[in-house]
Amino acid sequence: MAQQQPAPTVRPIGGEPRRVNGDRLWSHLMAMAQIGATPRGGCNRQALTDGDLAARRLLSSWARAAVCTVREDSAGNLFLRRAGRNDALPVVMSGSHLDTQPTGGKFDGVYGVLAGLEVIEALNDCGLATEHPIEVAVWCNEEGCRFPVAMMGSAVWSGRLPLAAAHALTDGSGRSVREELERLGIAADAPVVRQPVLASLEAHIEQGPVLERCGRSIGVVTGVQNMCRYEVVVQGQEAHAGPTPMDMRRDPVRVLAEALPQLYAAARARGEHARLTVGVIETSPGSPNTVPGRLRFTIDVRHPDGADYARLRSDIEASVRTALAHHALAGDIRLSWEAPGVVFDPACIGAVRAAASVLGYDTLDMVSGAGHDSCNVAAVAPTAMIFVPCAGGLSHNEAETASPADLAAGANVLLNAMLSLAGGV
Ligand SMILES: [Zn+2]
Repeated sequence: MAQQQPAPTVRPIGGEPRRVNGDRLWSHLMAMAQIGATPRGGCNRQALTDGDLAARRLLSSWARAAVCTVREDSAGNLFLRRAGRNDALPVVMSGSHLDTQPTGGKFDGVYGVLAGLEVIEALNDCGLATEHPIEVAVWCNEEGCRFPVAMMGSAVWSGRLPLAAAHALTDGSGRSVREELERLGIAADAPVVRQPVLASLEAHIEQGPVLERCGRSIGVVTGVQNMCRYEVVVQGQEAHAGPTPMDMRRDPVRVLAEALPQLYAAARARGEHARLTVGVIETSPGSPNTVPGRLRFTIDVRHPDGADYARLRSDIEASVRTALAHHALAGDIRLSWEAPGVVFDPACIGAVRAAASVLGYDTLDMVSGAGHDSCNVAAVAPTAMIFVPCAGGLSHNEAETASPADLAAGANVLLNAMLSLAGGV
């Protein structure tokens, strides 16, 4: 991906690597998890809710105590800044998100934010100044579950989504992003200023089972896979489930029945890295004794390899269109969302790899299966990510968890990688 500035310099880490305070990081995670805590041990802290505001306030209080300045913008992003020795230099950034899914966990996103804060606290502990300023970004509405554009705040910040389009997004009850920013007293009119960024690193739980399965504590994330989402709508005709003979129905579910085995076969043909998920299947009117008049389903498609991804997409589109034609039903398959793959910056990847090596951690090179704010940041600044294992690969789940040792390991890598980029080693 095109960079707008030269590659950052990665200074070698001499002597003993620095270490974070893993207990403090864990206690911050547990304190944050109480905001929006669910009875089954997870978190429901969706973007721009009262819970989101409480989380921002708690984080800001910790940041001010750690001698950071706090700034918000009208996309709802929050930035914590630790001054550099030369404060006019571009920042070395770390960040993620504090919002969760409705039945989310304690670590998705929150870990990246609090690992960034922990880097600042660890630098304060040893009285270490960095040449470049350090910032921790909290990106607004990463999850996209309440307001339907995932990674919204980072998309506005990076210039990929107009601010007005973000403000106009509405939730299920019709409240807009703009109204909620105003209601919560978040700087709804502060300009979105994209500060110059030397390099950006995001720590995150893997959200998959690979690191745990191979017993490695650090994933060196080299990029993010291609991904898109389709919406398929099929029109049928409502009819009584009793009197209407099978061969006289216009039943849209038959299109799904024919297409599904072909969709899974298409994914299987593209190898072990292909991902295909039919996550929404809706019939209307949704009555047990009425042949549906309408069917809607979604297909989420992902692949790290561009050629395989393109082939999988064309196979999916052909399968659905053929099934529609077979049953002579009106309908269409429409691409509703796409995020092309991202290749992260070699210097940032190198900084992560070098930090993990100095710390003695086993690493695995990985391509992220999920989208992250770093996809947007990578469009305008050198970027990479650090993954740590999560138990059973579970995420977007109230049972999501990770070990304190792995979380501390990821933060240690973040600390030393940021130091090597920001000039503090
Ligand atoms: Zn996340």
